[in-house]
Amino acid sequence: MPEWTLLVAKTTNPLDPVTNFFKSSTWHFMTLMFWFFIAVIWLSCAYWVFKDARRRIDDGIIVTVAVLTGLIFGPLGLLVYTIVRPPECLADIRERELEMRTLEQRLEDDQRCSYCKTPVRDDFLVCPNCTRRLRTVCGTCGRPVEPSWRVCPYCETQVAPAAAAREPYDRLVR
Ligand SMILES: [Zn+2]
Ligand SMILES: [Zn+2]
Repeated sequence: MPEWTLLVAKTTNPLDPVTNFFKSSTWHFMTLMFWFFIAVIWLSCAYWVFKDARRRIDDGIIVTVAVLTGLIFGPLGLLVYTIVRPPECLADIRERELEMRTLEQRLEDDQRCSYCKTPVRDDFLVCPNCTRRLRTVCGTCGRPVEPSWRVCPYCETQVAPAAAAREPYDRLVR
């Protein structure tokens, strides 16, 4: 059959332009592009989940499950992941733990003789190890008084620590 008869036959059917369009290479190209974009979106979701999960989750298996969820369910998986993901980043948790440890260390250091680092209680007058004077005694109530205090907090007596009592402490803080 000559080609022109085909053309005539096609133009006579009113649905021909539509069916022709769906058979055309343009439509084929558009379908390809559509699937390509879908693939890009799905991969992007999985990649985003991967990047985010690595920052928040320490367990490799859970990260893999999260990435698979993103890969299989695409944007829906990503939505589910953002709902159930841990609220804090691992870096933030580590930083907080480090801060806590530093604080604990500082508190611990406060409870040590500043000269020999022996653990001391806050009511010790002298270090039991190196016998350095840590605190003086209030002349009125007899309670331990820090060298930096100007008044006894228990009985309001003005503290005038003896030079002899303060001297070893001063030497050790210097
Ligand atoms: Zn000591
Ligand atoms: Zn006192």
